[in-house]
Amino acid sequence: METPARLTVDVARLREGEPERLRGTLPAALLGIDDLEQIRPAGDWRHDLTVTLLPGGELLARGTLEVPCACVCARCGADFGATFAEPDYCETFDVAGKDSLDLTESAREAILLALPSYPICREGCLGVCPRCGQNLNEGPCKCPEAGDPSPWGALDELS
Ligand SMILES: [Zn+2]
Ligand SMILES: [Zn+2]
Repeated sequence: METPARLTVDVARLREGEPERLRGTLPAALLGIDDLEQIRPAGDWRHDLTVTLLPGGELLARGTLEVPCACVCARCGADFGATFAEPDYCETFDVAGKDSLDLTESAREAILLALPSYPICREGCLGVCPRCGQNLNEGPCKCPEAGDPSPWGALDELS
């Protein structure tokens, strides 16, 4: 089995040089979000980070993380694609005595926090009619307005 790629920082090299920019992608499988019904990764997740050694010996990593997803709208059930991002990822790590640092888990957690609990296909999605199930974004359905007398009410009176 192939070893999955990880997001690692060469701390030893950082000690000798300038801050480094890390840009790249990681396999979607590393995110481990197969269990969400309404959101699935639609491709690799991307990172664009700058890593710096601070004078105190800690490592600062900051930048952007994002993942393209295939979603199901929590209101109307439509499929849609969206990219969710953490634009202000910023973490420090104690790297005393370490020559390399694995940022994968920290970055993974930051991405998971950027995913919405209820993905919505668009601002103001109207959802579906609770009676007939029509997608109200495509037009009004033929159900009577709430408050109209129910057809069943008349039948009840007959019995
Ligand atoms: Zn929707
Ligand atoms: Zn309806």
